[in-house]
Amino acid sequence: MAYPVLNIDLDRIEHNARIIVDLCASHGVGVSGVTKAVCGHPQVAAAMLRGGVTGIADSRLENIQRMRGAGLDAPYMLLRLPSLSRVDEVTAWAGVSLNSEAETLEALSAAALRQGRVHEVVLMVDLGDLREGIWPDRVVDLAKSLMPLAGIRLKGIGTNLACFSGTVPTRSNMRYLAELAAEIERTCAISLDWVSGLNSSGLILMAGGGLPGRINHARIGEAILLGRETTHRKPRPGTYQDAFVLQAEVVELQRKPSAFKGEHGEDAFGGHPHFENHGDILHALVNIGRQDVAVEGITPLAPATVVGASSDYVGLDVSALAGTIRLGDVLSFHLNYAALLAAMTSPYVEKRCFSGRLFDHRIMYA
Ligand SMILES: *Cc1c(COP(=O)(O)O)cnc(C)c1O
Repeated sequence: MAYPVLNIDLDRIEHNARIIVDLCASHGVGVSGVTKAVCGHPQVAAAMLRGGVTGIADSRLENIQRMRGAGLDAPYMLLRLPSLSRVDEVTAWAGVSLNSEAETLEALSAAALRQGRVHEVVLMVDLGDLREGIWPDRVVDLAKSLMPLAGIRLKGIGTNLACFSGTVPTRSNMRYLAELAAEIERTCAISLDWVSGLNSSGLILMAGGGLPGRINHARIGEAILLGRETTHRKPRPGTYQDAFVLQAEVVELQRKPSAFKGEHGEDAFGGHPHFENHGDILHALVNIGRQDVAVEGITPLAPATVVGASSDYVGLDVSALAGTIRLGDVLSFHLNYAALLAAMTSPYVEKRCFSGRLFDHRIMYA
């Protein structure tokens, strides 16, 4: 078997999806499963659907095309604002998209009309995360301006929090979103299917009963994939945090000093790493690097510590494994969201899905 490999436990993903979907359902919230961190991996998306999500949402058209191309039939939503240059693809491949620009909405309307479709849109409102979204005082006017546009249908409004600026969902900003929805419904004499207030950062507020009843839709990625909410990265009760295990092979294993005295400049990535001197260590290099993974986001399962990284290597202090570890052994790592995203995106990391048989998560060496 060749390494590096990213093992994907589809049963655990399905289980996590079911836990999150049930939790949300008990608060009147439907869930779209977000697949962008797994590059629209069709088997992961299928596991989410088995777990009960009502649709798949992804930020990349290419990922939606990949899932559809694999024959995975589901309602698809584009999470990223459509580019004006690609509106025809958006309406062709996604039933719903998130939007904030009047000009893009007009272009989507024209594209949908050309294709004889009705494209559904969710208006994103910026409630302080300073990522996408119209400022709240302009959202009702934008909604009104959509009413005459054939080819698109206003499906709802939404907001994205805890991303760019870490602004957290609160009772008061969720109430504000619900009030904006009510105002749009009044002014435009329509009813909105979705008030999409949540991503994984909203689960604590929701579980604590702090969500206004009108918020009825969530777009959930990390809590399903990695079993964590995202305001404090706490594990969600009943979910697995280890549906993904990255494995890399030891390609050098040598005793070396833990620090080297001598002149130091910048490292390969412009950083100034500091190496603590605690004598000689058993030092292992494994065959993954910054090109494959966000090194700060990997945690070895074995008693080993990451001490350095380049584009192609991660260096570990494996002194605690002296006597057992050998060249060619495989070390396993748990991943955070950034590391998962990078490992899924790296063409050098083989993705290996399994289900129905339990991967032994205690294995340190394969
Ligand atoms: C990525 C994304 C999500 C999912 O966020 P998680 O924290 O992974 O649940 C939801 N909405 C939008 C608009 C996104 O881009």
